[in-house]
Amino acid sequence: MFLPEYVRQCMEALESRGFACYAVGGCVRDSLLGMTPHDYDLCTDALPAQIREIFADHSLVLAGEKHGTIGVVSDGQVVEITTFRTEGEYSDNRHPGWVEFVKTVEGDLSRRDFTVNAMAWSPTRGLADPFGGQQDLENRVLRAVGDADARFTEDALRILRGVRFSVRYQLIPEENTLQAMLNHASLLEKIARERVFEELCKLLPLVGVEELLRFSPIFAHVIPELAPTMGFAQHNRNHIYDVFTHIAHVVAAVPADLSLRWAALLHDIGKPASFSWGEDGQGHFYGHDRVGAQMADEILHRLKAPNALREEVVFLISHHMARPEPDKKLLRRWMSKWGEEKLHKLLLLQQADLGSKGVPGKPFPYKEIRAILQELAVENSCLTLRDLAVSGHDLMALGLSGSDIGQCLNSLLERVLDEELPNEKTALLAAIRRML
Ligand code: ATP
Ligand code: MG
Repeated sequence: MFLPEYVRQCMEALESRGFACYAVGGCVRDSLLGMTPHDYDLCTDALPAQIREIFADHSLVLAGEKHGTIGVVSDGQVVEITTFRTEGEYSDNRHPGWVEFVKTVEGDLSRRDFTVNAMAWSPTRGLADPFGGQQDLENRVLRAVGDADARFTEDALRILRGVRFSVRYQLIPEENTLQAMLNHASLLEKIARERVFEELCKLLPLVGVEELLRFSPIFAHVIPELAPTMGFAQHNRNHIYDVFTHIAHVVAAVPADLSLRWAALLHDIGKPASFSWGEDGQGHFYGHDRVGAQMADEILHRLKAPNALREEVVFLISHHMARPEPDKKLLRRWMSKWGEEKLHKLLLLQQADLGSKGVPGKPFPYKEIRAILQELAVENSCLTLRDLAVSGHDLMALGLSGSDIGQCLNSLLERVLDEELPNEKTALLAAIRRML
């Protein structure tokens, strides 16, 4: 296993004082997979006070000291060094009531969630792997350390972490582990919403159709509003999938952008509540975009998502049924109203939505629309009040004041967007004079 120099220095500082020190957890797992770890955690039998003393001449991060973790700034990078410890008494399915320092690395590894995360390595001491993590990695197996039921009842967030590790490393959960993850999924409802949200944000960009379906009972507990979409038949000739299977396809089909993935996950959440039979014997979901946007707003509030993300997701869902044509005037208006980035995301969502029904339908004219947007960008069109060739000052000079100025500018922009007027100062001033 390769260890960067700044990590080796920390290990050697501890070893030279007679302590054991290992790299542990994610960095060992990732190295065994031939991937470059994004950070390196160390564990040691030195106590926090001893770590502090050994690294007294370094900058230290002491926020985690109570739990045995000291951050040592080595060559400008923070290396987290944690005293071997176990945990006990999970009163709230999330936080250990106490931590206890232990003497051996094996003792420390036994508190960890999955075998592939429960390995430690040192250049002098070799690999510590008491639960067969290396073998499981090779066989692509996700296995809880020890008693799976106990692991997930102690800390239910591990269930979602398990989904993420399964997806990220293509690990198939071993039978007991999967059963325990599914059986205890309802405990996720007790986990702090922001932790759940954070974990979902790590998971969503990675996840594919198969995994969304395999772990659907877990998603149903994390976002209960998804439960009614699971198995909900659409009774419509344009859809072969039930609502959740369609959702899973759309999530996988949009790029791995966070707001797009969230919008895809929630875009049809309003369907079960909006179902009706048409006279044609087909199922319809009139207004599900509006209903779904409202539900998504509530869900993301509840999960304490940042406002900007929530607002973008709600925007995308509430407009996902607007079916754009490659029409320059229409697209110019949309560009003016929403800006390039949001419009671009909306088009990606719509393209994925229309391509995920499982039946061939009218193709979405994505290329044609992008070509027109390209033209608009090149033309440097007037899209906002700021782009108009006249300003508030020009209107004041013509004797306008107060709210009349804003109204007048807006109506000029409308007419420029509709190509009724060119965006030229003389033409615009002449139009104002006519209006007055
Ligand atoms: P990532 O690449 O996502 O950082 P990681 O394995 O490093 O993956 P961290 O959340 O950084 O994950 O945690 C570091 C290690 O701490 C894990 O590998 C695991 O051994 C242990 N760990 C973290 N969270 C838990 C938990 N909730 N329960 C048990 N062990 C955990
Ligand atoms: Mg990590």
